Amino acid sequence: MLRSKMIVPIFVLTLFITGIFAAQSENAVAASNLYWGSRGTEVETVQKALNSQGYWCGNVDGIFGPKTYAAVTKFQKDKGLVVDGIVGPKTKAALRITDSTPSRDGSKVYRGKTVTMVATAYCPCAKCNYPYYGAPSYIGLPLKYGIIATDPKVIPMGTRLYVEGYGEGIAADQGGAIKGNRLDLCFATHQQALNFGIKTVKVTILN
Ligand SMILES: [Zn+2]
Repeated sequence: MLRSKMIVPIFVLTLFITGIFAAQSENAVAASNLYWGSRGTEVETVQKALNSQGYWCGNVDGIFGPKTYAAVTKFQKDKGLVVDGIVGPKTKAALRITDSTPSRDGSKVYRGKTVTMVATAYCPCAKCNYPYYGAPSYIGLPLKYGIIATDPKVIPMGTRLYVEGYGEGIAADQGGAIKGNRLDLCFATHQQALNFGIKTVKVTILN
């Protein structure tokens, strides 16, 4: 479905607007409330999340000042939260700021930056790859399970990822509909791709 670009456009657009893109480094544990005057990496995380969701709070400087306050209150108002300008657990959740718990898959523990993204699925078939059927991925790898299409501005080609509900893969493909915090996950069969559908997933950047 990657290259045909016909994946339920309105639904995707809605998810886009809902805008869920929150990145956080391993050591920035979101534990305390943040408010006007707060400083540090947690504030940076909040500022990044606000900016990426269209609530512009100026440059990401780790200082919770008037611009950040204005962005937080606007965000809270839009999301139906208590408009107090304090970034507590509910506002963090609405911003999709994830905690630093590593993803687990069996015995493996994945560590690294975690981002929340919207994932669709495709497979190597003609339907999913019109009009490029038979061509390899953008960087020349054969299409198979583990190949992931990303927006290279967000996740550069060659990045290894762990995607919750999918597994490990590599950013190795691109698509017209895959812009911003979007992923397209390659599955072995069309049925598996259909079964996956569209999901909001937690993505761990492995390198
Ligand atoms: Zn297919």
